[in-house]
Amino acid sequence: MDLSQKVAIVTGGARGIGREIALKLAEVGASVVVSDLADAEPVAQEIRAMKRQSLAVQADVSSASDVARLVDMAVSSYGRVDILVNNAGIARDQLLLRMSDEDWDAVLNVNLKSVFLCTRAVLRHMVKQRWGRIISISSIVGIVGNPGQANYASAKAGIIGFTRTIAREVGSRGITVNAIAPGFIDTPMTQKLGEEQRQELLKRIPLGFLGTPRDVAEAVAFLASEEARYITGQVLGVDGGMGGI
Ligand code: NAP
Repeated sequence: MDLSQKVAIVTGGARGIGREIALKLAEVGASVVVSDLADAEPVAQEIRAMKRQSLAVQADVSSASDVARLVDMAVSSYGRVDILVNNAGIARDQLLLRMSDEDWDAVLNVNLKSVFLCTRAVLRHMVKQRWGRIISISSIVGIVGNPGQANYASAKAGIIGFTRTIAREVGSRGITVNAIAPGFIDTPMTQKLGEEQRQELLKRIPLGFLGTPRDVAEAVAFLASEEARYITGQVLGVDGGMGGI
């Protein structure tokens, strides 16, 4: 895979899976705009140390004006935008009867509205270039559901409908649109589980181990590459065989 000459935007790139995606895209040659609500400068510095170009942009992906500024900065700095990775996400778990309007709105705005805003903002440039890659991080929870996560599951399922629709809208312009549905990934969230919960979880994973952020990043890099040019409108499970579609 060779992404040199390509410019990527990764949202939620300051830590976790997003950070790993940013580093992987840089490893295969891309210039990477690392965006986050938090300070993503340390990740941008890591990328520059790899002798790749990188820029950190602080932006709230649920804000249309922040997203417009993010995409403008990418284009004014590097002249183009080829790859968008919609990774930023939050969870506000609660059983439905106790779920507040605020928890519903926050999760839908950060996890789903953001995908609409960021994709719309980069498409203008990708259509002109007649080349582009949109990759959004959904979740196995958006496919099979999970008690206590009605807001999160709805947002992650929404990403799948969005992906399939936009793939059809822009396929003729050389732009592919795909989603990745991770299963359980070894992150601070899953590291908090007790030993018993962890063993229960492992029983549900045919491969018998949790995924790593790197496993997700490898799949993103493939979908972003020229090698994946005939793949669009798909949901790729990175879940150790847990489920998927
Ligand atoms: P994480 O460690 O919580 O990282 C998410 C990043 O998104 C954080 O840096 C966070 O910034 C940023 N963010 C939150 N709200 C934002 C906003 N409004 N605008 C811009 N950035 C924002 O999560 P992760 O585990 O790496 O997950 C990354 C993605 O994978 C998410 O979409 C998640 O739903 C999905 N996913 C994760 C798993 C898993 O097992 N971990 C499984 C399936 C899917 P702050 O630090 O400022 O909050």
